Amino acid sequence: MLETSHALVAGAIAGHTKDPATAVSLSFLSHFIMDAVPHWDFGTNWRGRRKLYTGLVAIIDVIVGFGLGYLIFGQTVPLPLLFAAIAASMIPDWLETPWYIFFANHQKKQPAKQAGFPEKLAFGIYKLENQFHNKTKFPLGVITQIVTVAFFFVLLK
Ligand SMILES: [Zn+2]
Repeated sequence: MLETSHALVAGAIAGHTKDPATAVSLSFLSHFIMDAVPHWDFGTNWRGRRKLYTGLVAIIDVIVGFGLGYLIFGQTVPLPLLFAAIAASMIPDWLETPWYIFFANHQKKQPAKQAGFPEKLAFGIYKLENQFHNKTKFPLGVITQIVTVAFFFVLLK
């Protein structure tokens, strides 16, 4: 899902359980639960775009996520807890980025046989996470995210 969606749910989790360890681990876990909901994000169809563009948009998504999280929960949740929970909710995607940044390209969908260990590791993480990923097209894939975030907001109120 979009990092912004992950951040908002992490904020709601942090606001609900003020315990840092619980908030951070639940936020991390929420990433996989949310990614199982069919969704659209900037990783979808990235091969149709320039890498630099996808990268910039991904960074903006992270910044918007932290920003909106701060706007909504900044008054009620201690900031270190809020930012730690938001970061935890994004970590699974950050771990996937080495594969995109350093190894994948528009032709290459998996490492070559003689690829080095870092490349195979990066690909392994990417593959593992994509087991949880359910994708769907824009705009339906954005609506599913709004519904998911709203669901967690109600659940954690
Ligand atoms: Zn993800």
